[in-house]
Parts: sequence; structure tokens; C-alpha cells
Amino acid sequence: MEPKLWEKDEGTRLRKVLRAKPLCRSCTGRLFARVGTGLTNAERGSMALARLKLRSPNVCWLCQGLVDEVPKFADLVMAALSDWQSETFLVGCRLDPDLLDREEILWAEAGLRTYEPIKAEVNREVGKIVEAQLDRRAEFSNPEVTAVVDTLLDHVDLQVSPLFIYGRYRKLVRGIPQTKWLCRTCRGIGCERCGNTGKMYETSVEEIVAEEAMRQARGDGHSFHGMGREDIDARMLGRGRPFILEITRPHTRTLDYKAIARHVGRTGMVEVDALRPSSRDEVVGLKGRVCDKSYRMLVRLSRKTSLQKVNEAVEALKASKIVQRTPARVAHRRADKERVRQVLQAETTALRDDVLELRVRAEAGTYLKELISGDEGRTRPSLAEVLGTSAEVLELDVLEIHDEEIHG
Ligand SMILES: [Zn+2]
Ligand SMILES: [Zn+2]
Repeated sequence: MEPKLWEKDEGTRLRKVLRAKPLCRSCTGRLFARVGTGLTNAERGSMALARLKLRSPNVCWLCQGLVDEVPKFADLVMAALSDWQSETFLVGCRLDPDLLDREEILWAEAGLRTYEPIKAEVNREVGKIVEAQLDRRAEFSNPEVTAVVDTLLDHVDLQVSPLFIYGRYRKLVRGIPQTKWLCRTCRGIGCERCGNTGKMYETSVEEIVAEEAMRQARGDGHSFHGMGREDIDARMLGRGRPFILEITRPHTRTLDYKAIARHVGRTGMVEVDALRPSSRDEVVGLKGRVCDKSYRMLVRLSRKTSLQKVNEAVEALKASKIVQRTPARVAHRRADKERVRQVLQAETTALRDDVLELRVRAEAGTYLKELISGDEGRTRPSLAEVLGTSAEVLELDVLEIHDEEIHG
């Protein structure tokens, strides 16, 4: 049975509107888009025109032939997508503002509440063709690629979502920062100070991890999100530190993770594992996460001290609340604040003359070097204070990030 498209008393008025503003079958049917199901707008339009005893005109007052261009728009979208791999996509469009004005006028005159905007129909119909012809799924919430058709210019703009790769890295050498660090003098242009590299350091964990991933993905650029960061002169050992590499505008989204890990490992400076796809949501979670860390430190004391005294001092630190003002070395970039932290575990693993090896597990955010040196009284108590000597960290390694013990 054919659906009822309008109330009985509306027929005369509709006929009058459509005689003055003759519409194609699709534009007619779109006025009743929310009536019944299983029909296309063109089918509804045919029905409505027959009942009103009207014909579809050569030139539609509303779309002026735009609806017939849908297959062409689909071809444009498919051509634009061809060099961009994705599983999901979404079609959007920009329409002639005059057309949208006419649409408003038509809605007002027709006085119906069952219409659908032409924009929705163009997006949907173009999307249907693309979905049928390419092996990709139309998706509204988080499409990997959005193709926006400018219907006046016959041009397609692609919005490409970044690619996120999760992993853990180990930094086996001292002296490289976690992320690419631009030269302070030239800000990346290249100058005498940086030897024309534009960078403060030859390389970074980010650059080493990104190189092969970028080659495969053919992206525009990258950024590196770490779950915290270690000092430049500290190694990052154990199971490594969780990170997410973000690649902007990737052409390829399925990467060979094993090849990436092999390439990184060959540098001898960094290793990665546990690589897998990730998401922007996970970046937010990663950045907001805090957890304990374990360290190994090599410490030089200003004079020889007995193992017993050192052990007593370590026990005293474990029993204390450690109050730390922002260290002098980072005060130029962080507000001067006070934080209270706890040393959870600590033991002396070696002592030779004035050099001491310590293993410490501390709460997130503890400043380790200052816990040892005291930072001229800014951290209290400190190993130096308790021992009554001065003490300096010679080497620092992060042995473990205890991220599994917070969220099970
Ligand atoms: Zn039309
Ligand atoms: Zn420079």
C-alpha cells in the first residue's frame, strides 16, 4: 500500500507551490522524506507528482540538476581517496548558498514537517556509491578520512585523521632527549650553534622511533606522547616507557610493526616493543596517568662513609615525607611550588670508596637527583643532609615504570 504523503487539506496548497516552483522527483520526494520507509526520495517524488497531476520539469527550481550530479561527485571522491588508505570514510559537501536559500523558501511555503535537507541526501547518496565500489565502510563517529565535496567547484577536500601507534621504548644510551628539541638560537632554521641541524641534540627517541613508521605511513609529520619522560642523561630500561606516536595525514594506515621495531633496534640507541594501533582517547589517558618508578643511581659522596651509615641514611629517607621545592635546574620553565613525595623502597647495592649504587622506588613526580643532593636546601630531607656530606648523582637509570600496578 502506498503511504499517505500529506493530509487531505494540504493537497491544493502543495499543488500550487509545486506549480510555481517545479521540482524534480528527488527534490519533491525529499519534502516527504520522513514518511514511510524503504523508499528513495525519487520514488516518493514520483508518487507525489502523480497524485498532484504534475510532471517533473526539465530544470528543477531547487537543485537545478545537482541531484543528477551525484554519480560524478562519487567519482571525484573515489579519485581523491585513491592514494589514501582507509577502512572507514565519511562524505560531506559544501553547497551553493543560493540553493540553500531556495530550500528555506520552499520549506516555508510547503509548510511540511517531513522534509530532509538536500545536503543530507547528497552526502548519503554519494556515500552509498563509494561504499558499494570501494572496500571501505561509511562511518559517522570517527571516520579515518572525510571527503568534503565542493559542488560548485567540483573539488574534494580530504580531512585525514592522524594515525596513532602505541608502544614501549627503552633508551639504552644517555644524552638523547625523548622528543625532538629545536635549537634555542635559530628555532629549527639552522645556525652556527647547532651546526646547521636546527636541533639541540643530534637525535631523539621520537626521531628514532618515527623514522621507519613515517617511511611506511608516508605522513606529513609526527608528534610523540610519552607517559612522562626521563632526563636526557638518564637511560630508560626494564620493560620500557609507554608512548604513543602520532602521525599526521598518513597515506598508509596498516604498518609493519615488526619492521619498525627491527629498524629502531638497529640504531643501538633505542628499542621498542608491544607496538599496536592506538587512538586519540588513549593519548589523553596516557598523559593523565601517574605511577611509581624504580631507579638505579650511581652517587658520589664528598667523603668516604661506612656502609652502615649509608644504610641508616637510606632508612631515614624511607621513613620521611620528602618535601621538594621545584628544582633550580627546571625553575626557568616551571612554577616554584612545593610537593611532598614518598620513597617507597630503597637499598644500597654497592659501595666503593666514595661511590655508592642505590636502587630506589619512589612515587610519581619525585625529583631523584634532588633527593640525593638536597638542591641547596630546596629538597628536605635529602641523602646529603642526612649523611652530612655533599652528594651528587653521577648516573641515573629508570629501571621500571610500574604502570600495571595502578590500573590492574
Ligand atoms: Zn531537484
Ligand atoms: Zn641553531
